[in-house]
Amino acid sequence: MSEERGKGLSRRQLLGTGAVASVAAALGGCASSQQVPASPAATAQGGAAAASSDELVLINGRIHTMDRNDTIAKTVTIRGGRFVAVNAAPARGARVIDLRGRTVVPGIIDNHNHIVLMGNRPGYHTPLENALSIADVQAMVAARAKGIPAGGWITTIGGFHRNHLVAATEMPRLPTLAELDAAAPNTPIFISEGFNGPSVTNTAGKKFFESRTPAIPVGADGAIAPGAKGTGPAMLALRRTLLTPDQRRRGAIDALNYGLSLGVTTHIDQGAFEAANTAADGAAHENNYTMQLPFLALHAEGKLPARLQINFLHQDATPELTTLRERVRNSFPFFGDDMVRTGGIGEFIGGPKAFRDAAIFLAQSGWRAEVHSLSRTDFQQEIQDYEAAHKQASIADLRWVVAHVPFITEDYVNRLKAIGGGLSLTSWRYLAGTPEQNGPPFKMILSNGIPAGMSSDGMQIAPMNPWIHMYYAVTGMNARGVLINGGQTISRHDALKLYTANNAWFLRQDNEIGAIEPGRLADLAVLNQDYFTVPDADLKKVRSVLTIVDGEVVHDAGAL
Ligand SMILES: [Zn+2]
Repeated sequence: MSEERGKGLSRRQLLGTGAVASVAAALGGCASSQQVPASPAATAQGGAAAASSDELVLINGRIHTMDRNDTIAKTVTIRGGRFVAVNAAPARGARVIDLRGRTVVPGIIDNHNHIVLMGNRPGYHTPLENALSIADVQAMVAARAKGIPAGGWITTIGGFHRNHLVAATEMPRLPTLAELDAAAPNTPIFISEGFNGPSVTNTAGKKFFESRTPAIPVGADGAIAPGAKGTGPAMLALRRTLLTPDQRRRGAIDALNYGLSLGVTTHIDQGAFEAANTAADGAAHENNYTMQLPFLALHAEGKLPARLQINFLHQDATPELTTLRERVRNSFPFFGDDMVRTGGIGEFIGGPKAFRDAAIFLAQSGWRAEVHSLSRTDFQQEIQDYEAAHKQASIADLRWVVAHVPFITEDYVNRLKAIGGGLSLTSWRYLAGTPEQNGPPFKMILSNGIPAGMSSDGMQIAPMNPWIHMYYAVTGMNARGVLINGGQTISRHDALKLYTANNAWFLRQDNEIGAIEPGRLADLAVLNQDYFTVPDADLKKVRSVLTIVDGEVVHDAGAL
């Protein structure tokens, strides 16, 4: 749908034509924006059209600005892609949207995810992270089948877990071939869990996989074994058959639009494992040098609907740092504009034997580094090596990051804080965590005061949906309804702040993004329900009914 959006006009030209309502229409929505009548003087000066087009005012909302004073405003004014006023009356000629009391939040910033991988999935990737039952899966698959061309594949590669597909009293499982056939009998389907499966297909998909040479084994119930025994060859076959440049471009739009439906307006992408183009590749493998091209092409055409910052992932195994050195030699950090910008190196900077050398090289090069921590000890080595790099060349202003940090201790938080670092906090334990495999310690980190923000680490082992991540941060409950992170929960306000204002630090766009405040980039989401007052379980069902990026309506569910 949004491919129609530009019709040859740039984003800013489009906005300049006063086409907010028609953009909404092109997106299938119907935001009822009305115009405040222009004054006769403005008309006489020929200024009415210009005045009407360049100011958009949202009125009658509960607008949680997330500014320093946590102001809750009723009205916000947008002009030229930026917020220009809060609680100001609409000027004559302004375009007005009546929020009818709805809750508004700043556009969500996901400081660590894999949106570029999601955009490069073979087939019509269909997120299942919001399915709460097998019946939900069937409904989502059936709805998707109606919207894709004949012969198209419905695929779900990562981002969900069987743990949320059945009631807590039942054994977790994937859907079966018969259940998928019932939902979409004529459409081939492939659903794969995590990085490498297991996966499941339907009758149409089974036929395709069994016709390969050699045949890819599929059980009578549609089950495909994980890894090299089934899911790996199946994914390779789908990539080879389905992934064209046009399909990657369509996938990029789909991925970003899915984010916009959740209110996610900015993504910091953390790259991929370098693809070998063999059956050993999993859901997280891609070509780190070309996978961003569909996103860059959309941006060049003025059709990128959300903001993207691109990190470069490197895993050189030896201290020669062959690929990392070439990357730094041939790229600029933080280069681009407010829609697309490069970032730093991450979420890997080098293999275990090259980690310290990579850190020192990046410090000397003045680049940002970001790495992830998953175990009870890896953050110790990472922060020690960050310190070693800092001794060679200061990283105090480079904002180096350690992500996920399920088990980080406060002494290491303090050591990272002392060298100017920050922490990206993720709720990926929601899907399959236990009281032993829990974390991160949200509460300790927040009270420590180190720069911290939230992220999804979607779309392989975790959902993108930020409201699921906030649910976990606030309740400490996993997808099976078990309390696993008690004692480290935080308030809804604090979780939202971590996902908005705090994430400006990660983008290195302090005072530019993350809050609804005059002068900042105009990104916001109008929510379907009040995040601050709904029962805990309903937090997972928060969605955006109207998303604005760069002052432009980019998602409209038709609720206003
Ligand atoms: Zn990641």
